[in-house]
Amino acid sequence: MDKRIKVVVVGGGYAGVMAANRVTQRDDVAVTVINPRQAFVPRLRLHQLVGGTHDAVVDYREVLAEGVELVVGTAARIDATARTVTLAEGGSIDYDYLIYAVGSFSRGPQVPGAAEFAYPVATLEAAQRLRSVLSDTPVPAPVTVVGGGPVGIETAAELAEQGRGVGLVCGGVLGPNLHPSARRAARKYLTRLGVEVIDGPDTSVTAVRSGAVELGDGRTLPSQVTIWAAGFGVPDLADPEAVFAPSSTTANSARTSS
Ligand SMILES: Cc1cc2nc3c(=O)[nH]c(=O)nc-3n(C[C@H](O)[C@H](O)[C@H](O)COP(=O)(O)OP(=O)(O)OC[C@H]3O[C@@H](n4cnc5c(N)ncnc54)[C@H](O)[C@@H]3O)c2cc1C
Repeated sequence: MDKRIKVVVVGGGYAGVMAANRVTQRDDVAVTVINPRQAFVPRLRLHQLVGGTHDAVVDYREVLAEGVELVVGTAARIDATARTVTLAEGGSIDYDYLIYAVGSFSRGPQVPGAAEFAYPVATLEAAQRLRSVLSDTPVPAPVTVVGGGPVGIETAAELAEQGRGVGLVCGGVLGPNLHPSARRAARKYLTRLGVEVIDGPDTSVTAVRSGAVELGDGRTLPSQVTIWAAGFGVPDLADPEAVFAPSSTTANSARTSS
C-alpha cells in the first residue's frame, strides 16, 4: 500500500501546475492533478488563439513534472471533512491535502443582446469559437472589443496587428488598474496600431445587437463582431454551500498518467 501523503490539486492551470511540480519534489508525497482537459491551456495565449498566432494548447508532459498523476475530470464537490473530491464524471478521489487552483472564468455579458451577439474570450472553447467566427469575417469589417482591462487591451492589439479595424470600448478609464504612465503607454501603443480607444464617462455598453453596439452616451457603433472581455468570475466550488459531506465511493474512471 502506498503510504505517501496524498496531495490533490484541483485545477491544472499555471497555479496548479506550479504547485504540483513544487510539492512533488518531496519523496513522501504522491501528487494528483484534476483538470477537465487532457491538455494544458496557457490562458494568457487565448487572445493569440483568437488572432490565429497560437493554438493555446500545450501537452501536459511538457509542463507537469514526472510522477505527477493527471486525472482528466471536473471536481464537482469537495468534502473537506471526509477529504474527498467528487468528480462530475463519477467517482471520487481521497486526499490528505488539497490545493485549490481553479482560476477564473468570464462572468458573461450582462447587457441586453450580449449573450446572443457578443463572444467571450476567457476559455479555450470560447476563444476557438471566436477564432472561427473571425475566420469567416472579412478583415475590413468593424470589430468591437468590450472591456478596457488587460484582456481587452491584449485582444484589441492582437486583432489590430492582423490589420482589423478595432474599437476598444472601455466603459470608463482605459486600463483602470494601470499606473498612469503605463496607461499612457498602452494608449499610445493601441493608437499606433490603429485601435480606436473609446473611453470616458458613459462609454459602457448598454446593448449589443446584430451588427452594432450601443453605448451609455447614446452612440451606436457598427460592429460586425463584438468581443466580450469585461467581467470575470470565480468558480463557486469552494463556497460553503458547495463543500459538503457526501457518501463517497472511490473510483478513478477518467484517470490517465502524465
Ligand atoms: C485572453 C487572456 C489574456 C491574458 N493575458 C495575460 C497576460 O498577458 N499576463 C498575465 O499575467 N495574465 C494574463 N491573463 C490572466 C491569466 O491567464 C490568469 O491570471 C491565469 O490563467 C490564472 O492562472 P490560474 O492557474 O490561477 O487559473 P487558470 O489558468 O484559469 O487555470 C485554472 C484551471 O482549473 C481548471 N478548473 C476549473 N474548475 C475546475 C474544476 N471544478 N475541477 C477541475 N479543474 C477545474 C480549469 O479548467 C483550468 O485548467 C490573461 C487571461 C486571458 C483570458
